[in-house]
Amino acid sequence: MSNLMSDWLNKARYLNAPKERTQKKFSSSWRFRVDFKDPEPKDILLIKKSFPDLKGEVEELPFLQLRKHYFYDPMKSKFRSFACGRNYGKNCHACHRQYDKGDKRLTARTANLWPAVHLDWYYRVENEYGDKPYFIQPENRSQEREFDDLDTHVKVFGAPKFLELGNSHQEMLYDILGNVVSECVGCLEHDQETNGNIEVVGWGCKSCGIPLEEIETTTLGRDEWRTFGQRKVSCHSCGYKGLPKEMVGCSQCPTPIRAEIYDVVLPLVKQGQGKDKSINLAYGKMPTYIDEYDVTQPDGSKAPLLDRLDGPNRIFNEYLTENVLKYMPDLKDLHSIEADLEFQEEIIND
Ligand SMILES: [Zn+2]
Ligand SMILES: [Zn+2]
Ligand SMILES: [Zn+2]
Repeated sequence: MSNLMSDWLNKARYLNAPKERTQKKFSSSWRFRVDFKDPEPKDILLIKKSFPDLKGEVEELPFLQLRKHYFYDPMKSKFRSFACGRNYGKNCHACHRQYDKGDKRLTARTANLWPAVHLDWYYRVENEYGDKPYFIQPENRSQEREFDDLDTHVKVFGAPKFLELGNSHQEMLYDILGNVVSECVGCLEHDQETNGNIEVVGWGCKSCGIPLEEIETTTLGRDEWRTFGQRKVSCHSCGYKGLPKEMVGCSQCPTPIRAEIYDVVLPLVKQGQGKDKSINLAYGKMPTYIDEYDVTQPDGSKAPLLDRLDGPNRIFNEYLTENVLKYMPDLKDLHSIEADLEFQEEIIND
């Protein structure tokens, strides 16, 4: 064998040998973002987490607000988005480029990230680079067969994800969720065929529970009543100061319980093009309550998504808990590398 030949062979072998990842600043956030590119509806279960808002004014929001930069270079047809350094109390290279240098390829806005599970078949991947496990779907049948043969790929039903919504899509999700939480789940205990409507019948003290305002006796005007829950009150009975607690009634049962956004699986689609894109419930489909939704287990059998309630906590199917929920990423942590100078320089300067 000539020297040239072995040189070639060594190079070829080098390509296939396992090696250290050369690109140090790698973000895997895109792997967890729900991708609405294909027109098929996606069954989405929102997962309960609690976040403060971006300014630190409000606590216990179900979504993380993240300031993001959007980079678009029409000359290179290059579009990328990434977290702003300010989310992490850092000097931000992109902010410097955008505001101090007037780089028109950069913009910034707030994105809303909702922890969620996409209920569908995926492969959980644990690769040789030591990345955190992530979940992918094959693009076609032949890739599916390839994945089935790999030791690094495990077929699972469900994937830990997040919905990333700008402000207009966020409003559309509020409309969908607003309908969910106007329904009563207490009706299920009374074998009602449908869920009754929840209505606010009073406002009580969050601490001692005594009624502060009741619909039968209130002197509040319509708007004052409607927004009473958004203002701080002081309780004349126990001295509590803070937001009041709503007291609800049901249109058809004596045990009203307001449905929560975590009680349903939402069949979501994104429709339209460009700026007219909207997020909707799939045509002709309604949210399914989690106790009526089945997940498929690896042996092909089906089991209810909700195993049981433990006080206010939803205990999900054990298979889903072990194979999917356990892998939910910390959303802020997931994006933290994008705030680094080296990461941003690679996008902006390359
Ligand atoms: Zn920034
Ligand atoms: Zn009811
Ligand atoms: Zn009180």
